Amino acid sequence: TNGFSPEAARAEFPVLHRTVNGQPLAWLDNGATTQKPRAVIEALTGYYSHGNSNIHRGAHTMAREATAAYEGGRAAVAELLNAPGTESIVFTRGTTEAINLVAQTWGRDRLGPGDDILVPVLEHHSNIVPWQMLSRQTRARVVPVPLLPDGRIDQDAYADLLSLRTQLVVLSHVSNVLGTVQPVREMTALAHRYGAKVLVDGAQAVAHLPVDVTDLDVDFYVFSGHKVFAPTGIGALYAKPELLAELPPWQGGGNMIESVTFDDTTFAPAPHRLEAGTGHIAGAVGLLAALEWLTSLDREGVAAHEEQLTAYAEQALGTVPGLELLGSAPGRVAVLTFTLAGHDPAEIADRLDQDGIAVRAGHHCAQPSLAHYGVQSATRASLALYNTVEDIDRLVASLHGLTGGTPAQAGSLAEAGSRA
Ligand code: PMP
Repeated sequence: TNGFSPEAARAEFPVLHRTVNGQPLAWLDNGATTQKPRAVIEALTGYYSHGNSNIHRGAHTMAREATAAYEGGRAAVAELLNAPGTESIVFTRGTTEAINLVAQTWGRDRLGPGDDILVPVLEHHSNIVPWQMLSRQTRARVVPVPLLPDGRIDQDAYADLLSLRTQLVVLSHVSNVLGTVQPVREMTALAHRYGAKVLVDGAQAVAHLPVDVTDLDVDFYVFSGHKVFAPTGIGALYAKPELLAELPPWQGGGNMIESVTFDDTTFAPAPHRLEAGTGHIAGAVGLLAALEWLTSLDREGVAAHEEQLTAYAEQALGTVPGLELLGSAPGRVAVLTFTLAGHDPAEIADRLDQDGIAVRAGHHCAQPSLAHYGVQSATRASLALYNTVEDIDRLVASLHGLTGGTPAQAGSLAEAGSRA
């Protein structure tokens, strides 16, 4: 046993104790968003009850306090990612905005006709569409990197597609459909041999894996706070300091300038140059609370629990007749996407909802990934550290109810773990 107790963690999340359609809630939609622990809720109400102020301006006590809290959030992000310093972290609305920021600053500045952007087929739409938009603006080419049948990126094809034309490689650390972990360090090292930069979408990774941007040597790393127990509307971009120093501004306004005249405006240094206007101060306060809460846990214990639970879920879902999991690569992280013969995902999600179980149905903002498996829609159960065997048992029992069978014994969590 370890120092992490899923039951104790669960007790910290008020919403997990509500009912839905008369049933206790089983929240298995963590890939879409995670629930918030009391520490985050209290930090938000505390900030608005006692600390609300704008920051970086106004010489008064509360402005100083709010500034310290906001910058504390930035420091917590730097620490979470093992970034070399707080100046390498830019606050954004989330993953999507961070990717668009890189596309519209670095990308617009650096890319042109004859340049390639390599984009694996498994990416979320937010790591495809901004590059397509950039391609229309700059005439740089978006080149898809194919997948193997098991859902892994085809590394031979990747090596073949890389060339001196390649300016940028983007990839998700953990796939939001397949749960696969990409070999980020190896793919980054290879890209760097061609002088290409690498952007990693960590939206599905930060809640599950330790992330070390210095060790991975990536150029850009982005994530959303709301997928790691923090509020919506706040996220971050990490960029290597020398890259960030060169990024031109993208939105103009207050807080991002050094001096303004009608003849000439000069800009503040990074990261403030890239944060025009009043930021999401309460969001940064909530993000700080979430990251402090997360890092106070035994993270190895968390990872062991999630690994066991994922293995248990894989095995238990396998007992449902006609159920097929998308992706078969080993090392799946917390994401189980499936189809069920004869049942539409919308019908499945609806039936599960009647039983108080929240999952996602649809294309998961990753239509090319689903197309790789010849489907347009699927059902996804996605786990977080507060999920338990009981949540999985209820999911599987409900699916058995739908297929008209009786739940077979799935075995025990310990057995699943030892096979994982
Ligand atoms: N990338 C991945 C892999 C995701 O799972 C998500 C969220 N579903 C996003 C990007 C987009 O995140 P957000 O909507 O918070 O910007």
